[in-house]
Amino acid sequence: MGINTGTYHNIGNSYEKGSNAALLSAIARSAEELTSGKGWPDGVHDLLETLGRTTGVSRVWIFQTIKITETHITQNYTFEWAAAPKHKQLGMPMFSMFTNAIDRPGYRDLIQSRMRGEWQKVVTDQLEQDWLRDNLEAQKIKSMLTIPIIVEDEWWGTLGFDDCDRAYDWSDVEIALLKTAGDLISNAVLRDRLSAKRKQFAILKQLTASSVWEFDFNTGQIWCSPEVLHSVPVPTDNIRFSLHNALRLIHQGDRRKLITAAKIYMKGSLERVFRFDMRLFTDCGDLRWVELIGNIRKNKNGRPTQLAGILIDISQRKREEDRLREEAVTDPLTGVTNRRMFEHKLQEHIDYSVNEGRIFSLLFFDIDRFKQLNDTYGHQVGDKGLCHVTKVCEKILRPNDTLARLGGDEFALILPETDENTVRKIGERIRRKIEATRFKTKGKEYSLTVSVGLATSEGQLTTPARIIETADVALYQAKQTGRNKVVSLTECCSKG
Ligand code: GH3
Ligand code: MG
Repeated sequence: MGINTGTYHNIGNSYEKGSNAALLSAIARSAEELTSGKGWPDGVHDLLETLGRTTGVSRVWIFQTIKITETHITQNYTFEWAAAPKHKQLGMPMFSMFTNAIDRPGYRDLIQSRMRGEWQKVVTDQLEQDWLRDNLEAQKIKSMLTIPIIVEDEWWGTLGFDDCDRAYDWSDVEIALLKTAGDLISNAVLRDRLSAKRKQFAILKQLTASSVWEFDFNTGQIWCSPEVLHSVPVPTDNIRFSLHNALRLIHQGDRRKLITAAKIYMKGSLERVFRFDMRLFTDCGDLRWVELIGNIRKNKNGRPTQLAGILIDISQRKREEDRLREEAVTDPLTGVTNRRMFEHKLQEHIDYSVNEGRIFSLLFFDIDRFKQLNDTYGHQVGDKGLCHVTKVCEKILRPNDTLARLGGDEFALILPETDENTVRKIGERIRRKIEATRFKTKGKEYSLTVSVGLATSEGQLTTPARIIETADVALYQAKQTGRNKVVSLTECCSKG
């Protein structure tokens, strides 16, 4: 005998209508349609029709649970198949997006039973004369079966079968089969949700270059999707680590800070989102700036079970931040500290000298007759001159000294741990070096000189304004008394 094969779409068509075999075959056909065919929501319409025709009921319907509180429930009548136009209820205002008070004890029990996932069957004329019987009679329903649809452990909605012609008593086998149909719908809802989430996540990943991660408190394991951890895309699914190994991927300078920040977060209200910027090594050993974003998930007893979230590559943002930070504190032409940063550093040195009793010195210098150089040879030559002066000074400076361009052709130098005697020597060295070193541009050579004014933090010079004024007056005197010289207010040192 050969191999018999077949598809599911005609399977069981020959079984007697209303039989369990016909119902089972109909469910098998619909299952295929829902999972690999039309899917959500068209496959659900087809399923209701198939169930309706096979079972011979008047109407098959789905109520979706929109919101449920202690006192009220909001539902929406989302799907319906009706055997005849007279049984149609979809679109009736009383059923679309309607809210009921959960006030009667019987109604509360019915809802709680559905929330627990229990099926319910009623034959109307066997009911006591109560609100439910009134309600079913008003709709001319002789019997009804309801099967809750549970999605991700929550009561998502109800699959219902109304019979207006028969007072039908559903058998256990029929209920079991229809429960399978309810599970099919539940899976379709879940697949639809997951597919929406996958699309959202794909958009997010495309926009942010991000990974998803989760830390499980019970196992101490972390899993993470590979996007941010790999320099080259790899066909890996989630990567699993122990906490210890995951920490080894983090730059040493950020590890302890991350642990401290996580501990503070865990002790807090946990309502907030946890955020932390850190450097992470990829598989190729490259260092990447990432932002870790997550929040805590708890079990029913309020115990934290997972910390989960996303990991975003923020290297570009960090580079931009570094650039802006750099720009905010440096002079664009010469690359040395700008006036704003100079004032900040000067205040720091004054505070340190007042609090710790340490001295520092300040040196102001200004290029002599710089305007003349600009006017004679042009602005570009002037710019080269400014850079030249900067370079000459930088060769003389110690690592903790700060050279700043205050504007125009005026510069300042902060020299920590430097007394008046030493700063005078340094000022003289700068003056002499600039005088002795020529700079070249466009094949021509030029020379410059500078005048220098000094001040030290000794005595009463404990505010930026006072120490700047002292150095400025000294510089003015150097200009007034012939230029190309170093002047301190306590003693004048003439050239040579
Ligand atoms: P003094 O010896 O008294 O300092 O005379 P000076 O000509 O140097 O006079 P002053 O210091 O007042 O002149 C500063 C000149 O610096 C004026 C301006 O044209 C020039 N300057 C200011 N900023 C720039 C710049 O960014 N590039 C160039 N090339 N020149 C500048
Ligand atoms: Mg000048």
